[in-house]
Amino acid sequence: ESVFSHVVRAPEDPILGVTVAYNKDPSPVKLNLGVGAYRTEEGKPLVLNVVRKAEQMLVNDRSRVKEYLPIVGLAEFNKLSAKLIFGADSPAIRENRVTTVQCLSGTGSLRVGAEFLARHYHQRTIYIPQPTWGNHPKIFTLSGLSVKTYRYYDPATRGLNFRGLLEDLGSAPSGAIVLLHACAHNPTGVDPTLQQWEQIRRLMRSKALLPFFDSAYQGFASGNLDADAQSVRMFVADGGECFVAQSYAKNMGLYGERVGALSVVCKTADVASRVESQLKLVIRPMFSNPPIHGASIVATVLKDRNMYNEWTIELKAMADRIISMRQQLFDALRARGTPGDWSHIIKQIGMFTFTGLNSEQVAFMTREYHIYMTSDGRISMAGLSSKTVPHLADAIHAAVT
Ligand code: PMP
Repeated sequence: ESVFSHVVRAPEDPILGVTVAYNKDPSPVKLNLGVGAYRTEEGKPLVLNVVRKAEQMLVNDRSRVKEYLPIVGLAEFNKLSAKLIFGADSPAIRENRVTTVQCLSGTGSLRVGAEFLARHYHQRTIYIPQPTWGNHPKIFTLSGLSVKTYRYYDPATRGLNFRGLLEDLGSAPSGAIVLLHACAHNPTGVDPTLQQWEQIRRLMRSKALLPFFDSAYQGFASGNLDADAQSVRMFVADGGECFVAQSYAKNMGLYGERVGALSVVCKTADVASRVESQLKLVIRPMFSNPPIHGASIVATVLKDRNMYNEWTIELKAMADRIISMRQQLFDALRARGTPGDWSHIIKQIGMFTFTGLNSEQVAFMTREYHIYMTSDGRISMAGLSSKTVPHLADAIHAAVT
């Protein structure tokens, strides 16, 4: 008898479990719209040309060794990552008020930031949008924060519940942490307008609420890196403090390389350096120091003007393909006369469409059409192609009629 015989089977992860189910399905028409990973028009994973080029350069450089990085990661990578999110002319960077540490992609950056806050910040409550990426509540709870939600999505309009958002943040205790999706909100694809961001900023600053930005899709939403960073830059421009978790999984296609960064913008350079010293105490017993390969790729691309430009072109091509999938799916539903207003498909932003389909309709589409997605009705537009749009439109049509 095993000493572990009492261990009960855990449920599959609600997002990654979709792929597990998909892999078991022998149907030739099966379609995986669950996980948020970019696919080409041929349905294949994509390694960016500029990434291949950077890797080739790294391989050819015989002076490169496999030594450990410092606890905070690759210095050059950290500097360039801060510049990417805050802007080349950011006063906060110039004034040395930003500390950036390399972490394990977006997830690891959120975790390190949250563990620091649980140890050193006076308010342990973090407000996350309702709904949000399914990993958020788990990351923050396990870090020692207490998780509350603020209203975000309005199912009736399939848009932002802006009044609910302002009410909930308005009644949050002073100093509470607020998780904000920098752009391309996951899973809803609904972002505040710039005017709304400005109102959120004013409210949050007036109540000393601490912004914690999750930036997993910079450049992937609009195709423009600066446009997608505007929310963050607004909060930095006012001189206040904030946290930002960055991921290169989507925008550089480095999913499995686990490359990301946590930046903390502080009031003074002295505070920033003390914060960094404490971030090292979070990181050292967690994973000691981050991996070198992915960060070297990113640094190689970001520091070279030509490679950077090449990246922005490839990035825009990915964003544009997703936007074109939105239009094609919308047109296909209209052509079928599918009942309902589907304009949210073309209005929503980023990788996902929050279709409004309920869990029974999702189960029907999986059972009858071999289409896999999360039970909340979220579909990854990046997993679609011109060839598969008709099949998806048929399935949605059948599910709602
Ligand atoms: N935040 C959000 C909102 C995401 O959608 C994701 C990716 N699914 C992440 C963070 C982090 O992903 P990763 O750890 O792969 O960078």
